[in-house]
Amino acid sequence: MTRLLLIGPPGAGKGTQAARLAEIYGIPAISTGDIFRSNVKNGTELGTKAKAFMDAGDNVPDSLTNALIRDRLEEDDAQDGFLLDGYPRTTDQVRELDSFLASHGAALDAVVELEADPEVVISRLRKRALEQGRSDDTEAVVRHRLEVYSEQTAPLINVYASRDVLVTIDALGEIDAVTARITEALVERGISSADVTSR
Ligand code: ADP
Repeated sequence: MTRLLLIGPPGAGKGTQAARLAEIYGIPAISTGDIFRSNVKNGTELGTKAKAFMDAGDNVPDSLTNALIRDRLEEDDAQDGFLLDGYPRTTDQVRELDSFLASHGAALDAVVELEADPEVVISRLRKRALEQGRSDDTEAVVRHRLEVYSEQTAPLINVYASRDVLVTIDALGEIDAVTARITEALVERGISSADVTSR
């Protein structure tokens, strides 16, 4: 039973690491960005409402986001733990998640912060824009997303640090090396992978 949260600026590699950590710990990776993107792609009502905010690099309003994540966390596969990527991103979302977890008698085991220099993430996202063509990876929108991150999401790092659950990881370097840094830091906190605990 491992409940993790991944936090860091756009381009820090959250999605990449989330997929690997989900595998290692045997838990679902839940990315609000991915859920929104698939809703946009499928033309759902939620997707239609979220699209303009996403394309502008702004946060989707909490009224849409909180209900979505509650429903997702109620699903069967999330009962034995989960890895949240991209949620919470605002202090209001932290309150929402806190109350959800408290009502289920649960708590986060660790919050992993992926730390990366803004210029590095901008150049990574420039590359991703060419490869994937995400509509919010244009230079101007990327800069705005970084501002939104530093204004609205970066303050969460102190909140989790004060609760003593924060693990800060250098997100630069090889993908494997970053994954290894994360799993090592989690072992130090007594959190081990599915391999160690159940096989
Ligand atoms: P990144 O971390 O690279 O910015 P994400 O895939 O996490 O990308 O998010 C893409 C977009 O989806 C955000 O810019 C925002 O519009 C929307 N979004 C994702 N998660 C949330 C959230 N928790 N609250 C509000 N908006 C969100």
